[in-house]
Amino acid sequence: MPTYDYVCNACGHRFEEMHAMSAAPLTKCPSCKKQKLERLIGAGAGVIFKGSGFYQTDYKNAAPPSTGGGCQPACGTPDAPAGCKMNKKP
Ligand SMILES: [Zn+2]
Repeated sequence: MPTYDYVCNACGHRFEEMHAMSAAPLTKCPSCKKQKLERLIGAGAGVIFKGSGFYQTDYKNAAPPSTGGGCQPACGTPDAPAGCKMNKKP
């Protein structure tokens, strides 16, 4: 059974409720008893989590190991990358 996020537009109360997809969405806030509940779907935490996941993946791909001139393999070794600073020394 899916869990839904609800937020109350009257008092800001937020909670999760588990009920069947076919069931009518809740409208009455359990905190202030007003009919101001809004069900959060899609635009909720799920999408944000997904976005940050993509961001982390992109960040890893766009950031090769370049911590203070430390190349992999190490600077100065024959296998060091061509762009390594220490390899450009005469
Ligand atoms: Zn409320």
